[in-house]
Amino acid sequence: MTRQQTAVVAGGGIAGVAAAIALAQAGWRATVLERAPAFGEVGAGLGLTGNGMAALRALLVEEEVRAAGHLAPHAGYQDRSGRWLLRIPAAGSGPRSITTICGIHRQRLHATLRQAAAAAGAQLVTGAEVTSVRPGDPGGEPAAVMWQTSAGEHTGEADLVVAADGVRSTVRTQLFPDARPRYTGSTSWRAVITDTAFEGRLIEVWGAGTEFGALRVSDSEVYWYGEFVHPGGATFADELTAAQAHFAGWASWIRAMVAATSASQLMRHDVYELPGGCPRYVHGRVVMIGDAAHAMLPTIGQGAATALEDGVCVGRMIAAPVSAGGDLADALAAFDQARRPRCRQLARQATMIARFGFELGDGWRQPVRNTLLRLIPAGPAFKAGTRIVGWTPPA
Ligand SMILES: Cc1cc2nc3c(=O)[nH]c(=O)nc-3n(C[C@H](O)[C@H](O)[C@H](O)COP(=O)(O)OP(=O)(O)OC[C@H]3O[C@@H](n4cnc5c(N)ncnc54)[C@H](O)[C@@H]3O)c2cc1C
Repeated sequence: MTRQQTAVVAGGGIAGVAAAIALAQAGWRATVLERAPAFGEVGAGLGLTGNGMAALRALLVEEEVRAAGHLAPHAGYQDRSGRWLLRIPAAGSGPRSITTICGIHRQRLHATLRQAAAAAGAQLVTGAEVTSVRPGDPGGEPAAVMWQTSAGEHTGEADLVVAADGVRSTVRTQLFPDARPRYTGSTSWRAVITDTAFEGRLIEVWGAGTEFGALRVSDSEVYWYGEFVHPGGATFADELTAAQAHFAGWASWIRAMVAATSASQLMRHDVYELPGGCPRYVHGRVVMIGDAAHAMLPTIGQGAATALEDGVCVGRMIAAPVSAGGDLADALAAFDQARRPRCRQLARQATMIARFGFELGDGWRQPVRNTLLRLIPAGPAFKAGTRIVGWTPPA
């Protein structure tokens, strides 16, 4: 009988848990080490585009996620007064099919993934902080992971280490010390509020140095975010009052959403990216995934979707071929070759949209940009999105 392959996943976010499902489904023994003391109530809403849903389908959890979320099309872009800049037709198969979004609370997405990982046989360990790795050699010595719990230091060997420990990855800092996260220059308020009135379609709104967006995440909840150019680390004494003041001159539906938000519902996070991404996604027996490999601006809503894609690819491009007798080094090289160009391209696209969108300053730039957008026919503009959303999992 052949020996069961083993993988240690550093980080139990969306990428790590998705990878654990895919590894377990391919017959590997997968252990996720998560630093947080418990899988908690973190995060607000997420919008998953078709590629994220295709990844969820490959992980056999699409139906559960759809049931826990809310499916609606992307409505388009407005200016801060609520006038449409680019309106995506409400009917018709083209733009609509590529812009369908599943809005979901991050906690529900994460809980669904955790349940599937446990059902597939993966082990999820909380309160376990990975402190370092020994990358090993795909053709030789195994990898080793060192981690810390309240009981002390631990070391374990594995055939594969999946580094899914987020934008400030400990594993990346050790293996690729020159790849450092950078403050994007913008921060974000986010909240999930009780609401049954908002239409539910994703609406994005651009003002000078600010973007507001909202989408329904369940029959009774709406997720909104407000991202704005701001010095890193600079907080407000009263975040809710600051948010209300920031959006005071904006469309009435936006003001109403902010006004309906309580201080405990409001979150504030500075947004970091990994400029250029990780120079390689593999090192020895270590594979980098999710924000640890390619943290990008949230402007095209691809952070969670690409984390899910990565998870599927760990299973289909590494775990399954190796289980079938394939060579680990070849599988890792194929993963790097497939994932790095795609994620780099998406990160570049996210940056470009930010420059043209919410990062644009005040004055003449706003009316010029807005006029340009009003002139662009929605169909061709959104065809560009096909490359993002049309991703299909490897066989
Ligand atoms: C304003 C905003 C809006 C967004 N909107 C969207 C959207 O609409 N759609 C979308 O797809 N994405 C969106 N994103 C991005 C998305 O939230 C993330 O990119 C995605 O969740 C990345 O997942 P991850 O698992 O790689 O990283 P993380 O979610 O950061 O998970 C990393 C995990 O590793 C753990 N960890 C860290 N260090 C260690 C260690 N040393 N040992 C053990 N565990 C460790 C952490 O505790 C954490 O649980 C948005 C982001 C922002 C900021």
